[in-house]
Amino acid sequence: MTSPQTDMSPEQFRRAAHEAVDWVADYLATIRDLPVLPRVRPGDLTDQLPAAGPERGEAIDDILRDFRDLIVPATTHWNHPRFHAYFSVSAAGPAIIAEMLAAALNVNHMVWQSGPAQAELEQVSLGWLRDWLGLPESFFGVMYDTASISTMHALICARELVCPEARREGSVGGRLVVYTSEQAHSSVEKSAIAIGIGQNNVRRIPVDDEFRMLPEALEEAIESDLHRGKQPCCIVPTVGTTSTTSVDPVRAIAAIAERARAWLHVDASCSGAAAILPEYRWLLDGCERAQSFVVNPHKWLFTPVDLSAFYTSRPDILKRALSLVPEYLKTREDARALNFMDYGVPLGRRFRALKLWFVLRWFGREGITRILRNHLAWTHELADEIRAHPDFELCAPVPVSLICFRYRGTDDQNRELLERINASGRAFLSHTVLNGRYVLRLSVGNVRATCEDLRITWETIQSCAAGLPAS
Ligand code: PLP
Repeated sequence: MTSPQTDMSPEQFRRAAHEAVDWVADYLATIRDLPVLPRVRPGDLTDQLPAAGPERGEAIDDILRDFRDLIVPATTHWNHPRFHAYFSVSAAGPAIIAEMLAAALNVNHMVWQSGPAQAELEQVSLGWLRDWLGLPESFFGVMYDTASISTMHALICARELVCPEARREGSVGGRLVVYTSEQAHSSVEKSAIAIGIGQNNVRRIPVDDEFRMLPEALEEAIESDLHRGKQPCCIVPTVGTTSTTSVDPVRAIAAIAERARAWLHVDASCSGAAAILPEYRWLLDGCERAQSFVVNPHKWLFTPVDLSAFYTSRPDILKRALSLVPEYLKTREDARALNFMDYGVPLGRRFRALKLWFVLRWFGREGITRILRNHLAWTHELADEIRAHPDFELCAPVPVSLICFRYRGTDDQNRELLERINASGRAFLSHTVLNGRYVLRLSVGNVRATCEDLRITWETIQSCAAGLPAS
């Protein structure tokens, strides 16, 4: 084939796209045959690729072949049903189709007129999700890429609320303080760094023996800061912490935030989706009193990375903090024509809503409920088996779909166990440290996972532990 000098013809596109779609269908059908973690060393892929980009265009068949032969073998398979590390995510079929269609439309809906359907679908799909989670109807939704960026926007709102001069004057002079727990995600601290509040002004509040923020310790920290002339700005409890999925007592924390006149932002990015189940609605108890809330459909709602759903009861503050409209983007005001560039740092916005809309419609609330309920039931069954096994112990309660456990041995043996499990290719787990001890984490949440997958993972763990060297 001669080197292509123009974009693909419709016929070329149709043929190559059909081939790619066939590959996706086969990939998803046979993914269990692949090792979850690729057997590669750093630099292996780079060494196989040319140092410089091609002078002349290349044939799509050659590009697709290299995708299959070079890229896929060096990929960690997040879509693998036995990927249990970090947090278990997956891209459902309808969402993969939606991603392709969104790329075809290639809309940038910075203002309503640059993407009317995209702006409206973002509101509609986030409205459906908000209702399924039982959040107040007054919560206004915005899509960002990640929970880290959602939390950064929460802190920007908090700063705007308590210190509106910061928008004009810049530095807040080390006066504002953010409170979160010892177990909170690093994105809270990073957001404080990014927006000039400063790392030293983030208080990591101690937790109880179930890793939940202690409201009394929070109150004490606020008192002590007020005495020193500091100003509480934002309080960030977590519903489903990264290490253990512990759930902070949001209702008690909300009362403290109200007294301190601080913004309350709830990080439910990993586990919040479980509140779609009536029996897990308790997870979001008190969240209706938050000024902002984040949940990530790209974590436990079968939507491909990236999509973080940010809700706020004060869109006016978000807009006041960040709206800045250059002449070329001025459009006629209309209450129903939302210009999303007013509600965040990014100007350009890709069409993320389509994949969420496809997922919500394909599964329906009932389908999502059924899958999450299975994940939770299987997690608790496996936690019971681990608890009952003489060689293993649970290291934290299991409120949602993550098990923290360890082999009854030394930290080094547990490190070795994790390496063996991951090197087996049959499952991928990660670790954390709890109460100074090295702990293995096993997250459940893949849309295609079955209880048989969990059985294989548990067998792999036990057989890897059986061969461990003595401490
Ligand atoms: N918050 C919590 C509780 C998390 O567990 C994570 C990631 O694991 C994040 C925030 C950051 O998520 P993202 O990668 O979407 O920024």
